[in-house]
Amino acid sequence: MSVALELNSTHDPQRRSWVVSANTVGGDFPIQNLPFAVFRRRARPDTFRGGVAIGDQIVDLAALTQAAIFSGEAGAAARAGAQSTLNALMQLGPSGAHALRQALSDALSEGSAMQSVLQPCLVPQLDAEYTLPARIGDYTDFFASIHHATAVGRLFRPDNPLLPNYQWVPIGYHGRSSSIGVSGQQFHRPRGQRLPPGQTLPVVGPSARVDYELELGIFVSTGNDLGDPIPIHEAEQHIFGMCILNDWSARDLQAWEYQPLGPFLAKNFATTISPWIITLEALAPFRVPFTRRAEDPEPLDYLSSPANRAGGAIDIRIEAWLQTALMRERGADAQRLSYSSFRHSYWTVAQLLTHHTVNGCNLQPGDLLGTGTQSGPMPAEAGSLLELSVGGAHPVQVGAEENRTFLQDGDRVILKAWCERPGTVRIGFGEAAGQMLPARAG
Ligand code: MN
Repeated sequence: MSVALELNSTHDPQRRSWVVSANTVGGDFPIQNLPFAVFRRRARPDTFRGGVAIGDQIVDLAALTQAAIFSGEAGAAARAGAQSTLNALMQLGPSGAHALRQALSDALSEGSAMQSVLQPCLVPQLDAEYTLPARIGDYTDFFASIHHATAVGRLFRPDNPLLPNYQWVPIGYHGRSSSIGVSGQQFHRPRGQRLPPGQTLPVVGPSARVDYELELGIFVSTGNDLGDPIPIHEAEQHIFGMCILNDWSARDLQAWEYQPLGPFLAKNFATTISPWIITLEALAPFRVPFTRRAEDPEPLDYLSSPANRAGGAIDIRIEAWLQTALMRERGADAQRLSYSSFRHSYWTVAQLLTHHTVNGCNLQPGDLLGTGTQSGPMPAEAGSLLELSVGGAHPVQVGAEENRTFLQDGDRVILKAWCERPGTVRIGFGEAAGQMLPARAG
């Protein structure tokens, strides 16, 4: 079994923090979570540095390092995490992140003698702004939900929805890291080339079919050398943690450009992730068996292992919410569009990482893998408007006065994720929110 599946004292549901807000039932950041982000104070901007969420506070790893509160491996990990990106901490692998997590969990526990030295290292989340948690060298997006693949395939190719390779190969494409932004990202409606319905000549102009995709992101910790594949039983040792990811998509551009090489300009105008990365260690209590339907083939040997079968999947609840400009004007709350779980994914995080390196491709600390849109088995669990509106044929009711087939200017999409299970303490991912502005003049 890998470290990621083992439970230890940091998962103890009885453990409470002297940071009182961390003990709020249903909060995102109890002491069992301890996710990482890169932040700075908004009021007097200083340099960005790593931090760890606890309740409504952030443990400032730069302050922690300056005060030399931890020693040994935890101290080294805190120093690595105090930089303006988490790449150095990621490079230490799961043992570095674990040492720091264990030390912080103990120091933040109720009754800890460390309270007085740690207290000055806390920054309220309300006073913080975030940036990307890592320097993302490469970004790959997968297509790991068979429910999404089938529903979208049916719209693009009604007679041939699921291509025969799907059940064997974790399908992916190389995305672009330059346009990845952290929650709060705004982008202009993309322009591009599309073939209007029923026409024979393409046009260029603003996309009329901008959509969101409800996904999770996977951050790579230690990498592998070129030519040196990562076997599945070692895959999770190379994963730092997971975040929420919105793979904004222009469906009309996509439909015209995607054959034969896959997504290109339909996807790389913006991608929004949550600031917080939840470590695989924090996700350990929410593991579930990886199973396949009886009619589906078992994965090839290199994508299979006893640990992956026993607990390769993770029950991460995921939701998409929409707030339109009109809703903001009226002071109305965002509306939930869909709800599902990452447990329905056709491939696990270990399988995605192992497949990515089977040809010898080298991954590096801070690389980001997207899981692909995570749609569940039911139509209401769809992770995109393309699916919820059945290709734009059935508008989705939004609030009392509006509906949507695709996104309108000013729409703000908020993706949320969390884990809960009886006998454990709920942990949350925070959110990944992004907003589309009108197209720039052509
Ligand atoms: Mn995607």
